Amino acid sequence: MTDLVCGIDLGGTKLLGLAIDPTADEPVLAHKVPTPSGTDAVVDAMVALGQQLIDEAVDAGHRVVGLGLGAPGLVDRSGTLRYGPNVPGLIDVRFADVLGDRLGVPVVVDNDATCAAWAEHERGAAKGANHSVTVTLGTGIGAGITVKGEILRGANGFAGELGHMVVDPHGPKCPCGRRGCWERFASGSGLGRLAREAVAADPGAPSRMVELAGGDPEGVRGEHVTVAAADGDEQALEVIGQFAWWVALGVANVVNILDSEVVVIGGGLAEAGDLLLDPIRAAYDELVMGGAHRELVPIVQAELGERAGAWGAALLAHARA
Ligand SMILES: [Zn+2]
Repeated sequence: MTDLVCGIDLGGTKLLGLAIDPTADEPVLAHKVPTPSGTDAVVDAMVALGQQLIDEAVDAGHRVVGLGLGAPGLVDRSGTLRYGPNVPGLIDVRFADVLGDRLGVPVVVDNDATCAAWAEHERGAAKGANHSVTVTLGTGIGAGITVKGEILRGANGFAGELGHMVVDPHGPKCPCGRRGCWERFASGSGLGRLAREAVAADPGAPSRMVELAGGDPEGVRGEHVTVAAADGDEQALEVIGQFAWWVALGVANVVNILDSEVVVIGGGLAEAGDLLLDPIRAAYDELVMGGAHRELVPIVQAELGERAGAWGAALLAHARA
């Protein structure tokens, strides 16, 4: 019999659940279900997923000693999601209490990107670094910070909302209600917007990105840019260059504040690898304060992929079990 911990990552489109042996390199169980809409339905789906993991673990002769949840938004130290602008309707949800009562195991809740950062710190690309930043480039930008080998949570648990660092006060509106947040420029949706602007600036010209979007210039999204860029398309490579500058601007701001040892870039876009990371590194060198006079900060690809959030949540639950 092994003591397992479960982790669930609450995403905008899917719930990913794992059961892990904290000492092992691969999860024991993994399940994915779509995220329903409405707070009650989300809670019910999480309870069902957690119960399935617990039942299967017990059937296999193990014991589940805790469950961690990664939730998108401001999660306070009591495990309540106070505010999650990117998942409409989720406000003041007492996830830790509700899930703990219904599942009968201790539940810890943290910000989803904080969980992913912890997993990269413990098992992935930031392993061995005391001072790390992990940035997850998805529909928005999530981030987690470690300082002296510990997660930086701040006074209330809200630290690390790098995606909502304002980089242009006159920029596009953000779901958080303000303008010009970093994630409006440097996320997957920001990449799509930059690409549509590039297409609109040169109307009628043949465009591989538009072709990949089924011929609709308004339908161009981030993934069309990375695919076209990987084929060597010049227009797409130019968009990637602009996008990399925005990513690097935020990374440089963060390194100026935290003096991190390593910056890990995760999320779907990071799968583009050096195609994206090389221009980020080049722009970062120009943008960070005193670049020629300070230690090189490696900007590296995340290693744990889409499982990072759930894995980190489980590791945090284990640490507190
Ligand atoms: Zn914002």
